[in-house]
Amino acid sequence: MTSEKLANRVTSIRVSPSVAAAQKVRDLKAQGREILNLTVGEPDFDTPEEIKAAGVKAIADGNTKYTAVNGTEALRKGVQHDFSTRLGIECGLDQICVGGGAKQILFIAMMATVEEGIEVIVPAPYWVSYPDMVVANGGTPVIVSCGEDVGFKLTPDALEAAITPRTRWVILNSPSNPTGAAYTGDELRALAEVIRRHPNVLVMCDEIYDRIWYADFKTESILGVAPDLRDQALVVNGVSKSYAMTGWRIGYAVGPKFLIDAINKLQSQMSSCPSSISQAAAAAALTGPQTSVAATVEVYKERRDRAYALINDIPGLSCTLPDGAFYLYPSCAGVIGKTTPDGARIESDLDFVLYLLEHAGVASVHGGAYGLEPYFRISTATSMDVIEAACAKIAEAVAKLS
Ligand code: PMP
Repeated sequence: MTSEKLANRVTSIRVSPSVAAAQKVRDLKAQGREILNLTVGEPDFDTPEEIKAAGVKAIADGNTKYTAVNGTEALRKGVQHDFSTRLGIECGLDQICVGGGAKQILFIAMMATVEEGIEVIVPAPYWVSYPDMVVANGGTPVIVSCGEDVGFKLTPDALEAAITPRTRWVILNSPSNPTGAAYTGDELRALAEVIRRHPNVLVMCDEIYDRIWYADFKTESILGVAPDLRDQALVVNGVSKSYAMTGWRIGYAVGPKFLIDAINKLQSQMSSCPSSISQAAAAAALTGPQTSVAATVEVYKERRDRAYALINDIPGLSCTLPDGAFYLYPSCAGVIGKTTPDGARIESDLDFVLYLLEHAGVASVHGGAYGLEPYFRISTATSMDVIEAACAKIAEAVAKLS
């Protein structure tokens, strides 16, 4: 058995379910099936021209060598400026690190701090990668269910109850993938109060979607509202989602120096540094005009509003209004227990998602993948035509259930 040659850290984790769902769509398309794809986790826009030009210029200028392990000064200055002006986070350049995507920073931060016996509090529904990142590093994810009744958000009481002497991290993702729920400043302040009482607990704030924001309350970060947590908070962000730069692979974080130094040390042995060309483009993104971000957010908002209305019009489905990001997380509780035209019973959100794929040609991801059932995630990072056609197909397929 060749798998015996693999380490536990590999055999104990899953392939990301959203990556697997996207692969299934590609397989069905290759068989000639027409599939309306609502599984996509990346912007359908192109990287803005001025940002691409900065990448091209980096190549032309010979800016094609290793950079400092923690990223170029130009990019870290861009991050420092962005965190300060948008979120009120003040930090030194030595408290910022740059990596190959927010995903890599999150993983390395876990690698630096998590080992056997360590617990990481993961509010559910969660981004699919968090629990596997914990497990891959030998730790134990402690899943705290945060239902629709609490807006899919962690409450201070639930956090307090989940903390044990073994807790190293609590993960906050705002706005959230998959629900789009975002924490208000007051909610962050209340969570900060709990974290402050537990100096051994760190908080990992994944704010990768925080520019894709629709809520009428202000975008805030835990380090902006509670700067005294500077020794306990790692705020992670990146250019992938806001600037349609998923393929450039640049993410960054601000945090306490001991942690940033540890992340840099690991990165020095893993990749030396992220791409010099991508860093130049990311610096241009953060310091250039923000007009393209504003324009794409307008488009995402129209799609969110339309998808929200269409889904809520379907008997048996219901959806909360996302504050940000480009996903909806409708409940399919009203269709569980129903029977398909083929006589099969819908027992779970996975059954429902597979029914939609087979009978409606609509691909989405089941809520079980995100740790809260019975829901399913649909992405609005696709055209309005696809969203409208997919919702019509979902409505038809649901109407056929008895
Ligand atoms: N966090 C969340 C919540 C995400 O949805 C994603 C992308 N799917 C990431 C982090 C990773 O982003 P990046 O492209 O910067 O690695």
